[in-house]
Amino acid sequence: MRLHWHRRDLRLADNRGLAEAPDSPAGLFVFDDRVLDHAGPPRVVFMLEALERLRAAYRKRGSELLVRYGDPASVLPEMADRYDAEFVSWNRDYSGLANERDDRVANALRDEGVTPQKFHDAICHEPGSITTNAGDPYSVYTYFWKKWRDRPKDEPDPVPELADIGSEADGETPIPTVGDLGFDPPDASVPPAGTDAARERLEAFLEEDVFRYDEARDYPAEGCTSGLSPHLKFGTIGIRELDRRVRETRDAVEGEKRESVVEFRSQLAWREFYTHVLYFNPEVVTENYKTYENGIEWEDDPELLAAWKRGETGYPIVDAGMRQLRTEAFMHNRVRMIVASFLTKDLLIDWRAGYEHFRERLVDHDTANDNGGWQWAASTGTDAQPYFRIFNPMTQGERYDPDGEYIKTYVSELSGVDPEVIHSWHELTPTQRENAAPDYPAPIVDHSERREAALSMFERARGED
Ligand code: FAD
Repeated sequence: MRLHWHRRDLRLADNRGLAEAPDSPAGLFVFDDRVLDHAGPPRVVFMLEALERLRAAYRKRGSELLVRYGDPASVLPEMADRYDAEFVSWNRDYSGLANERDDRVANALRDEGVTPQKFHDAICHEPGSITTNAGDPYSVYTYFWKKWRDRPKDEPDPVPELADIGSEADGETPIPTVGDLGFDPPDASVPPAGTDAARERLEAFLEEDVFRYDEARDYPAEGCTSGLSPHLKFGTIGIRELDRRVRETRDAVEGEKRESVVEFRSQLAWREFYTHVLYFNPEVVTENYKTYENGIEWEDDPELLAAWKRGETGYPIVDAGMRQLRTEAFMHNRVRMIVASFLTKDLLIDWRAGYEHFRERLVDHDTANDNGGWQWAASTGTDAQPYFRIFNPMTQGERYDPDGEYIKTYVSELSGVDPEVIHSWHELTPTQRENAAPDYPAPIVDHSERREAALSMFERARGED
């Protein structure tokens, strides 16, 4: 008998560790305070629903998902002893913190004569398997992508025979509610969790939206992206299963449709690229990936930061994004880039403050992707936006939301305002603004001035001033 410790793999199918370690497994999930400390209510709600569904799937197959609280380094040996498990398996997580914890757990298990079994599962190609010809990890995505794309992919594993621990697990601990874990219910709506929901999302996406992904993915009002990020974060769908369906879809079409599917697949490779970056550079969670000659002199302005968080900057596309985050615990990728650029290059606020806010609010917060996205926007990361390329939030809004449809969905003060007025909000006089939308704020900073200030800040950091 074996215990499989579920962490970011809340599913039975296409689960490497669950399927490939010796002996029939029963599942175990541990609520660890150190992990919960970093979570926000939307993510916790999504995770709890995924656990309910996982437990139901175990029970349907005559087995059980056990649930415990505490430090995994104490809980796992205790549970292995209680259930007479010779092995404890798990799938690897690639952050520095997770690696340290897993080493502690593995040692604690070995001390009790239990064999830990670790597997690569969360991404198609594990860190270290895609490298430059000199054997180094890539810091440029394009080359990584070409190798990732051409490398053969493993097939998904079937669900193994599970251990029947029915009678011993009687009276098993219920899955807690969000309140039991000390969180307030989220203000934001949270999408359905679990493998069935993930598969439904994927199939709906592959039916239509994936074929216009290439041309429409940057337009937030189009809503044509997959919405799979929370499922990938919690592993409610396996990456081999997902990628196989994407390849099957690609191979069934030609021309632009095929290119569009390939474009989608290249986004899955970004996720793997950032996972590798995090694995080889665990310090990026708090430190800039890219070193400048001098420290970057970020400004510390709590009022500007608060206005950005509330979505009251007077830059409509930025405010729409921040309000989407508040109400849906999600934000469209293009808009994430715009709000992150605005925080770091218009407000000159350190990317870490933005990352922290996203970590608390996003249902799909993923250390590797969130950090990669923030450091890209702040010009401190791998493959980052060059420091002198600064998004103009008004032209970004005009280009990617020309009819103001996305903006009006989230910024109710602008719902009756013409798109031309919305996109020239920064140029209007106070009287014109008062007449058009009296409750919507004037821009809190002047983009042209702040752009110059940002350039000087980076030039000083580069030692050019
Ligand atoms: P789709 O376009 O359908 O993409 C499919 C999948 O590919 C995504 O679910 C995701 O797993 C992956 N992917 C897509 N774009 C990227 C990307 N640029 N980098 C890495 N992986 C990508 N993504 C997260 O999963 N979690 C985060 O916490 C996160 N934070 C971000 C913060 C910033 C500042 C930026 C600029 C981007 C961030 N992203 C993050 C990447 C991207 O915005 C989201 O993955 C995407 O918006 C999720 O929506 P989707 O599933 O519909 O995406």
